[in-house]
Amino acid sequence: MRTIALAGNPNTGKTSLFNTLTKSYEYVGNWSGVTVEKKVGLLRNKQGQLVDLPGIYSLHPLSSDESVAANFLLTESPDAVLNIIDSSQLERNLYLTIQLLEYNKPFLIGLNMIDVAKSRGIHVDTEKLSTMLHVPVLPIVARTGQGTNQMMSHLSEPHLPSSHFRIDYGPIVEQAILTFIGEIQQYEHLPNPRWLGLQFLENNPVVIDTLSNIMPMEPLRALYQQTEEALRESSEALHLPQFIRSVRMDFIRQLMEQCVDRQHAQAHSLTERIDAIITHKWLGLPIFLAFMFLLFKLTFDWFGQPLSDLLDGFIGGPISDMVNQALTAVGASEFTHALIVDGIIAGVGGVLVFIPQIFMLFFLISFVEDSGYMARVTLVMDRVMEMVGLNGKSFIPFIIGFGCNVPAVMAARSIEQPKERLVTTLLTPLMSCSARLPVYSLFVGAFFVSHKAAVVFSLYLLGIVLALLLAKLFTHLFYTGEKSMFVIEIPPYRMPQARSLLRNTWEKGKGFIRKAGTFILGGSVVIWFLSYAGPSGFGVDMDHSFLALIGGIFAPILAPVGFGTWQAGASLLTGFMAKEIVVSTMNIIYHTPDMAGLETQIKHAFTPLQAYSFMAFILLYVPCLATVGVIRKETASMRWTLFSIAYGLVLAYTVSVLIYQIGLWIGLT
Ligand code: GDP
Ligand code: MG
Repeated sequence: MRTIALAGNPNTGKTSLFNTLTKSYEYVGNWSGVTVEKKVGLLRNKQGQLVDLPGIYSLHPLSSDESVAANFLLTESPDAVLNIIDSSQLERNLYLTIQLLEYNKPFLIGLNMIDVAKSRGIHVDTEKLSTMLHVPVLPIVARTGQGTNQMMSHLSEPHLPSSHFRIDYGPIVEQAILTFIGEIQQYEHLPNPRWLGLQFLENNPVVIDTLSNIMPMEPLRALYQQTEEALRESSEALHLPQFIRSVRMDFIRQLMEQCVDRQHAQAHSLTERIDAIITHKWLGLPIFLAFMFLLFKLTFDWFGQPLSDLLDGFIGGPISDMVNQALTAVGASEFTHALIVDGIIAGVGGVLVFIPQIFMLFFLISFVEDSGYMARVTLVMDRVMEMVGLNGKSFIPFIIGFGCNVPAVMAARSIEQPKERLVTTLLTPLMSCSARLPVYSLFVGAFFVSHKAAVVFSLYLLGIVLALLLAKLFTHLFYTGEKSMFVIEIPPYRMPQARSLLRNTWEKGKGFIRKAGTFILGGSVVIWFLSYAGPSGFGVDMDHSFLALIGGIFAPILAPVGFGTWQAGASLLTGFMAKEIVVSTMNIIYHTPDMAGLETQIKHAFTPLQAYSFMAFILLYVPCLATVGVIRKETASMRWTLFSIAYGLVLAYTVSVLIYQIGLWIGLT
C-alpha cells in the first residue's frame, strides 16, 4: 500500500486535512505543539495510508518532536509527500516546501486556508506556483473539506510522477554535493543522495546521526571543512548552512514576486488592536484569570451544575427504582442486590452525574483554544514562566493538563531542552484535570454553595501557583545550560466551527466515560466488596469492614491535615487508581440514594475547612495511575517516576496541613 507523508508548518491545518482524508478524529487545535507524534490513518478510499507528522518549520530539528519528520523521511521512505501550506503565510511556509521538494518523491501541495487568504486580500496564483515548482498545487479549505475530493483522487492515481525540483546552489556547494554522492554511493537503503547531501551540508543532526551509524565520518567531515574553506575563499561571508539557507530564501523571494498578489492585502488592524490589550504586559494576566473565572462560573453556577442535578435526580430516582424493582422481580439475592445498587450504581452513577459539568468545561476550553486565544495566553504566560526558569512552551502542556494529565505529559515533548522538559513533565500533574472535578463538585455543592466557582477556581490557581514555585526550585536545583527557544505562532482569531468544537469536546471527554465503564466500574466493585466483607464475615457493619481496616491505617497520619477518618483514608488510597474513584468510594461508604443525601452525610463528616484541605490534598497528592505510567514512559526513568509520586505526597501533606492549621488558627471551622 502507498504511504503518503503529510508535512507542513505548525498550525496550517494538517490534522484537519488528515481527519477529512482518513475519517479519523485527531485533535485539532488552533495553536502549535498539539501533534507531537506521527499519526497513521487509512485513506477513506483505502488506496493508501496517510502519516500526519508534527508541524515543523524546517527539517533541521530543534526538539524531539521535530526530529520525527526528518527521521521519517530518512528511514521510512514514503511513496509520496503531501505538503500542506497556509496560503496566508506563504513566504514562511515555502522554506520547508523546498527542503521537502528536494527529496524528489512524488509531491503534491495542498494550498490551505485560501478562505483566510482571500479575506485578507491575498491572491495566490496557483498555476504559476505549480509551474515554478514543477508539482501540482491544489487549493483547499481543510476545515470545510473544500477541494479535498480532488486531492483524494489525485493521491489515488496509479502512477505519481516524482518531483524533479532542484535549485542551483552555485559551483562550490554543487561540487560538494557531487563529492558527497560519490562517498555514499556504496551504502544502500539511503534516500535521495542529493537531498541527503544538502541536509548533511546544512548540518542536520538527524542526518549526521544516521550517517555516522553506517559509515566512517572522517571523509564527510573533511568534505564539510573543505567546502566551508572554499566558501570563505570566495569571499562569501556566510557559513555553509546559512549560505544554503540564503540561496533558498532568494528563490522564495522570486516565487513570491511572481505568484502572490498582495495589492489588496489589508493590515488586520482589528486583531492587532485586540492583541495589544489581551497580551498587554500588565493587563494580560488579569484578563486571563478573569476569563478562567468566567469559565468556572459558566460550568458550576450557571449551566453545568443545574444539568448535573437533573441527571442526578434521574439516576437517583427513576433509574434506581427501575433497577430495584427489576432485581426484586427476578428474585436476586441480597448479595447481588447490594452489589448492584450499593456498589455499581452508587460508584459509577455517582461519577456519571458529573458528565454535564465536565463536558461543559471541555466545550468552553475547546472554544477558547480554537478561537486563537489560548496561543495568546502562552505568550502572556511566557513572561511569568521566564521568572521561574521555564518559558511559555511549558505552559502548553499545563493547559492541556486541565483536560487530562496523560496527553499533557506527552505534550511536554515539544520542549527542546531536556532538563526543562523534565521539570515540565514533573509539574504537569499539578494541573487540575477533569478527574478532580467530580470531587470538587461534590464538596463545593455541600459546603460552599454560594461560592462554587470561586472555590474551584482557587484550587486550579493553587495548582498553577505551586507548579510555578516548584519550577523555580527545580530549575534552580538541577539546571544547567541553555533554555529552549520559544517562538509561538500567533494564529489569527477564528470563529470556532461547531463541528470541530463538538468533536474536540468529545475527544477530551470520552476518556472520562470510558474510565467510568472500566476503571471506575471495576474499582467500585472491589471497593464495595471490601466494605461489605470484614474479618468476621460478609455483610458486616461497615465500620468493621476490610475497607475501614485499611483506611484506618492512614487515619492517624491524616489527623493533622484535618480528615483523620478511615473513610478519608480509604478514599485517598483508592483515588490513586483514578481520582474520580474518590467520589465513587464516598458514594459507596456513605451509601445514599442521590447526591443530596451524600452531601448531607459529608457535611456530618467534614467541616468546611476540612473539606477545603481535603480538596487541596486530592489535587496534589499523587498523579493517577495512568499519569504515573506515562511519566515513566516519557522520562524513561524509574527514579524520576518515584520522585513525582514522592514530591506530590510531601507537597499535598505540607500544603493541606498549612491550610488546615492556619485556618484553625485564624478561627475558621
Ligand atoms: P495542524 O497544527 O497543522 O495540525 O493544524 P490543525 O488541523 O490543528 O488546524 C489549525 C487551525 O486551523 C484549527 O483551528 C483549524 O480549525 C483551522 N483550519 C484548518 N484548515 C482551515 C482552513 O482551510 N480555513 C480556515 N479558516 N481555518 C482552518
Ligand atoms: Mg496537528
